[in-house]
Amino acid sequence: MQQLHHFINGQSQPGDSGRNAPVYNPATGEQSASVSLASAEETRSAIAAASAAFPGWSNTSALKRSRILFRFKALLEKHSDELATLISREHGKVHSDALGEVTRGMEVVEFACGMPHLQKGEHSLNVGTGVDSHSLMQPLGVCAGIAPFNFPAMVPMWMFPIALATGNTFIMKPSEKDPSAPLRMAELLTEAGLPPGVFNVVNGDKEAVDVLLTDERVEAVSFVGSTPIAEYIYSTASAHGKRVQALGGAKNHMVVMPDADLDQAADALMGAAYGSAGERCMAISVAVPIGEQTAQRLRDKILERMATLRVGPGEVEGQENDMGPLISRVHADKVIEFIDSGVEQGAELVVDGRDIKIAGHENGYFVGATLFDHVRPDMRIYAEEIFGPVLCLVRQESLDEAIALINAHEYGNGTAIFTRDGDAARQYTTRIQVGMVGVNVPIPVPMAFHSFGGWKRSLFGPLHMHGPDGVRFYTRMKAVTTRWPDGLRSEQTSHFTMPTL
Ligand code: NAD
Repeated sequence: MQQLHHFINGQSQPGDSGRNAPVYNPATGEQSASVSLASAEETRSAIAAASAAFPGWSNTSALKRSRILFRFKALLEKHSDELATLISREHGKVHSDALGEVTRGMEVVEFACGMPHLQKGEHSLNVGTGVDSHSLMQPLGVCAGIAPFNFPAMVPMWMFPIALATGNTFIMKPSEKDPSAPLRMAELLTEAGLPPGVFNVVNGDKEAVDVLLTDERVEAVSFVGSTPIAEYIYSTASAHGKRVQALGGAKNHMVVMPDADLDQAADALMGAAYGSAGERCMAISVAVPIGEQTAQRLRDKILERMATLRVGPGEVEGQENDMGPLISRVHADKVIEFIDSGVEQGAELVVDGRDIKIAGHENGYFVGATLFDHVRPDMRIYAEEIFGPVLCLVRQESLDEAIALINAHEYGNGTAIFTRDGDAARQYTTRIQVGMVGVNVPIPVPMAFHSFGGWKRSLFGPLHMHGPDGVRFYTRMKAVTTRWPDGLRSEQTSHFTMPTL
């Protein structure tokens, strides 16, 4: 059985806590590896390595840091297929989807390569006679990142490329369910020339996380995961004086107006609801057709497409599947329980994915694509995040009704409207209380040079991830006001009042 270690101070480091977690292949249900779970002491040793590396790394010229990231980007391209295979084996998503994840992460590395330009700060000449002002955007120190299972490569890359490019050192705590891709990226960063201790991977659970949240040497914490844990991370790390961004769960709605291209909307819904088996924080889990006629026509078009959906293992020879298994037996059972509750609470179960069997993969964690109609807001399948291949239709009579429904939901991560009506789109994009909005775009994940983040209980903290907010998060502003000797010679008196022009 393969044993997965930590990566501390530039090398693989076997765990010595005696605690391990199993890593499974979700398509077969077989254990593929065992991962070390760090003790508090091992986590502190990673923090010590990152602290020791900080003075050297933060004083390395911005251009040299950026060149290492350029080399890392080239290595990611070279090894993207290998990374996608690791992701698919431990997460279950299909290979092309795993490759897409690596590409979206790599785009943040490309953005971070331009950091010498983004970290220049500002300068004003002659803010007073002979007085100049400039700002410094300095790195914070040791930063930590805690990632969820559903994007084992992309979510870490939302964080560490920007943290490293701006001069911080980093400790990554991947999900214990699929840690191989982050470990491989640590090796690639070393191959790209990153000095020891600048990027470390600590595998673990709450014991490791709690040290990262409370140790005074850690300056900032980036988290992505479920809302209850995001809230815990935000409150605990903030109480210990750290800068925190904690992204949480989601329930994303797609409004379909009567004038929408319904074939385009149905195609978009298939990928957005069932891609990655619904285990995406930007997955569409609720479709909101406006008017009975729209609802019926959309439902028919979805049903046509569901009939040809291919469900099976993520890694196959020949034609690829559309959708793989869920991450674990426990999670698959939880999704099935949600479907049971939908039936009990009176929703119409149009397509039931509970009893799916995949030949040759009978022990895999598969749940088939599921469709509910006539779902009401008081039902658990609407109110809670399912994080599985379950799409709910909630019929509404008007755009105003749909906006009120969505704004009342506790989550506000992503949403979309499908329409040909510019006024409806404009009303929607301005009035909706959601962080990322698509117009005829089902999964509006911002590109790396914009920032990613939700509203309400989908994000705790003021700054979103990557893009301009990412640069702000990992740097601290300092304003420097300089008076040169010439000015001093001409005004040799002390001033005791507030300086004004
Ligand atoms: P999770 O909250 O269970 O775990 C996330 C991380 O927190 C893991 O590294 C885990 O080891 C750690 N963790 C778990 N319990 C902990 C505890 N009690 N104390 C300290 N650390 C703990 O989430 P998950 O199941 O891995 O991921 C799925 C969730 O992530 C979904 O809710 C999904 O919506 C969310 N997600 C959100 C976004 C976003 O951008 N908003 C993106 C991806 C995933």
